[in-house]
Amino acid sequence: MTDLFNISEPTSDSHPRKQSLSPQIDIMSLIARLEAQQKTIGELQVKLHHVEEKAVNLDNRVFQMRALLQSGKGFSQILNLSNLLDSFMAVCRERYASINSVVLLLDDLDPTEIQYRIRGYYGLKDSFFDVNGNREEMFMFKMPYDRGLLWQLIHQGDVFAVRDMRKLPRFETAFRKWNLGVLQSDIWVPLIRGSDVLGILTLGECEDGSQIPESDYCFLEEIAAVAATNIDSTLKYEKNGRILANLRTLYDVNQQLANVNDFKRLMKDTLSTAVEALQAQKANLMLLNRETQRFEIKVVWGNIPSDTINAINEGSLETKTFGLGEGVAGLAAQRREAVRINDRGKIDQMGKNPVYCILSVPIIFGNEVEGVITMTNKIKTDRHGRAVLDPLSRFGEDDEQLLLSLARQAAANLNKARLYNASITDKLTGLNNTRHFESRLRELMTPSNGENKNICLAIVDIDHFKLFNDQYGHKAGDFVLTRTAHFIRTMEDDQSGNECFRYGGEEFCVLLPMDHVRDSAACMDVIRRGIEASVYEWGVQKLKVQVSIGVASSRDYTNSALLFEQADKALYLSKGNGRNRVTYLDGDVPVEYSPRASQSDDLAPPDCRQL
Ligand code: GH3
Ligand code: MG
Ligand code: MG
Repeated sequence: MTDLFNISEPTSDSHPRKQSLSPQIDIMSLIARLEAQQKTIGELQVKLHHVEEKAVNLDNRVFQMRALLQSGKGFSQILNLSNLLDSFMAVCRERYASINSVVLLLDDLDPTEIQYRIRGYYGLKDSFFDVNGNREEMFMFKMPYDRGLLWQLIHQGDVFAVRDMRKLPRFETAFRKWNLGVLQSDIWVPLIRGSDVLGILTLGECEDGSQIPESDYCFLEEIAAVAATNIDSTLKYEKNGRILANLRTLYDVNQQLANVNDFKRLMKDTLSTAVEALQAQKANLMLLNRETQRFEIKVVWGNIPSDTINAINEGSLETKTFGLGEGVAGLAAQRREAVRINDRGKIDQMGKNPVYCILSVPIIFGNEVEGVITMTNKIKTDRHGRAVLDPLSRFGEDDEQLLLSLARQAAANLNKARLYNASITDKLTGLNNTRHFESRLRELMTPSNGENKNICLAIVDIDHFKLFNDQYGHKAGDFVLTRTAHFIRTMEDDQSGNECFRYGGEEFCVLLPMDHVRDSAACMDVIRRGIEASVYEWGVQKLKVQVSIGVASSRDYTNSALLFEQADKALYLSKGNGRNRVTYLDGDVPVEYSPRASQSDDLAPPDCRQL
């Protein structure tokens, strides 16, 4: 710099020759020097600019690293997937001011196709129109996997723009085919874990209408890697939580049902447990009717009017049946594997309520498909704690595995119950047999937990039964036995707790958990009158059947053999006094409940089942 200004004043000892140089030459060299100096200044300014740029970049980098570190720390503390995705999207949004963002993740909802479904979104509407013009929830938007260019790029793991400078889609075919315009995206960020594509983050344009510059892709890739690690572990954490819950359910069910021999109760308990574990809205359990080869609904459960549940479960309401391969349940039976459909458009919407998802699994005993369990729709708990339909939730792979395990357990338990039932059932009438009667009587008369509940025993004997055999043949006799058993069985319902048995030949026993023997006698008289009033049509013959009944109470006879003896004594009195009547023992005193069949109309207590 000194050179630059040291131009005008020659010193006193300057060389005289120098002084003689022309002033023009001096100016020329001066200009040259000036120019050189200016160039240097320019260069220095460029250098300065570079340094400044580097400093800004470094500052940006520091910010980015800090953001990454913060988000990494933050992400790793979030164990709930939707919260994690929200945070991830928020970090990217803040950084780029993008107007929207979406996270699609690999999904197991449709077992037939690999697809990625929206699991988090921001800045988009809550619904979209699918390719057929149907409105769908945004969370149901999915993109299938294929081998096209778009997927090849995703697999490479680099960030890329899906729209060009003119904002037109770069992958027109894929965009059209998969309706990708719904995402309103500019930039796609693959979420890679190992060699797997876990999902994709998409970002829309920035608030000022610009695109995220390519120089920023590096940061996006880094933050996506951090997010992918955390998404992966959160998914695994959630999955493990579900597996644990499922194992607990299976263990509980096993504990609960292993010793249940009542076939009907087993079916109900299995189904109610499955409904609870899968958070299903409705469910049914069908069994194969071997004669018709059709599946019949035996038990229903869930969010269905309780009248309907009771009617179906008690067998008084006929429902639709399914053949092999018919409907989703029939398909599960035919394929002998779970059938899971989570796409509303692929489900036959038969009823008035929409079916969003359906899952059917076969019940297989040995080699035979014996039944099917079917679940429809998922529920959630609303803020008032009520269970309400969840139109966004679907049956996942875990649900399918759990239901398959439950069905396997159900198969084993039901088979066991079936064998047990066969061993205690009288083949002809379907009532419990003598062996079971004896063990039940002993059981009921053994005080448990210090409480000794009163029990009444009624013995029913068909009057002059031999005549049916003699006049119309043994088959007619069997028919009379079966019809009479059917009448008696109407006493067995969940509320009364009555139990009916065939006790050898043409005798039946009924155990009534009642305090007063007279009430039991009244109930038995309803049956007696019902049988008397009905006509047994055997071909062209109209048979009239009557029964005699004896009743005794455990209040008076605490030993089971004695109780039986006394009820038999009462029966003997009914027979001796002209048959077709009920006699009970009040203490030791025999009382004829209805001396004449026609006089007893007012005697039935109101809680007796009317025929
Ligand atoms: P009562 O009014 O005194 O009871 O006379 P009853 O004819 O009903 O009684 P009895 O004990 O004399 O006859 C019972 C008959 O029931 C004898 C037996 O052949 C018949 N029997 C027993 N088991 C069966 C069966 O499973 N099927 C048929 N058809 N008959 C049976
Ligand atoms: Mg008899
Ligand atoms: Mg008899």
